[in-house]
Amino acid sequence: MKRRDFIKGAAAGVAAGTAAACGGGGGDKGGSAPAASKRRVIWRLASSFPRGLDTIYGGSETLAEQVEAMSGGRFKIRPYPAGEIVPGLQVLDAVQQQTVQIGQTASYYYTGKNPALAFDTSLPFGLSARQQVAWLEEGGGAELMAPVYEEFGVVRFLAGGTGAQMGGWFKKEINSPEDVQGLKMRIPGLGGDVMSRLGATVQVLAGGDIYPALERGAIDATEWIGPYDDEKLGFHKVAKYYYYPGWWEPGPTLSYMVGKKAWEQLPDEFKAIFKAAAQVSAIKMQTRYDALNPAALTRLKAGGTELRAFPESVLTAAKQQSEALYEENASKDPTYKKILESWKKFRSESFAWFGTTEQAYAAFSFK
Ligand code: CA
Repeated sequence: MKRRDFIKGAAAGVAAGTAAACGGGGGDKGGSAPAASKRRVIWRLASSFPRGLDTIYGGSETLAEQVEAMSGGRFKIRPYPAGEIVPGLQVLDAVQQQTVQIGQTASYYYTGKNPALAFDTSLPFGLSARQQVAWLEEGGGAELMAPVYEEFGVVRFLAGGTGAQMGGWFKKEINSPEDVQGLKMRIPGLGGDVMSRLGATVQVLAGGDIYPALERGAIDATEWIGPYDDEKLGFHKVAKYYYYPGWWEPGPTLSYMVGKKAWEQLPDEFKAIFKAAAQVSAIKMQTRYDALNPAALTRLKAGGTELRAFPESVLTAAKQQSEALYEENASKDPTYKKILESWKKFRSESFAWFGTTEQAYAAFSFK
């Protein structure tokens, strides 16, 4: 609560104080190289997410509010939801082509361009939310991802996370690996690759396109995020069974992808502001999910949604395929191999640590 009050207060104060000075805006024209204190920068942000998802799309609004507040209105970011500038799954392309200066997206939407991009979001049977952020921000992950992004002319920053995701919405029960065969499912990233190996027919659809596909039967199942967002998208109206865990996304993180040129042209003061604002937006996103999901799950269950756990046989088959896939990808690309080695070492040690006191407490209390 205190954080939110502070953010709102700071943004309102700055808006009141600088409204007259900002006037027509105009953006960074460069050229005459004004002193840093006089510089004005306006970035356009393309998000992969619809405006209605205040949790995930709201992260880019928090970023914009914070950047504006901290710079006294001299640095502004204007967020656009999926589809307004580019479709939700073309955000990386838009940044690469300098159509926008920044994108808010999930790197695993683009594993077709480079499989290693998945490490910046989540891998099946990978890291929990806290472990993923720890690996990226303090465990060497971000440094390992930098050369991958360099190929696209992108500088990457943490944009927040959702926490462990649900396994999604199924019209029929899944009781064995055989039930996955022939299933038409919306599931992106490596989770999609693994589902495909288990015999599913996999589709990648942006958030706003999923409900109509599920409703008309173009797909039999979909995953998205978790109770709060899924309820907003209405999946419970057309699918009865809500599965967990989302083994392909045990703790996914989102990414801000900034065009390298835009980043290099940004005054140092604004770079520092951007980094701080990005951190605030990341924390706020996870906090909102953790605050909003519990009540949403209660509502869904009250409305007739039936929770199901994936059977152990499905998890075991999926884990085998996942680990095999990582080794195959590593054998084709030395950069992927290097990232995988760091990630696996971190995963092994983190699981051992979180398997002690966190796990014991959860096993006893979370019932
Ligand atoms: Ca998901």
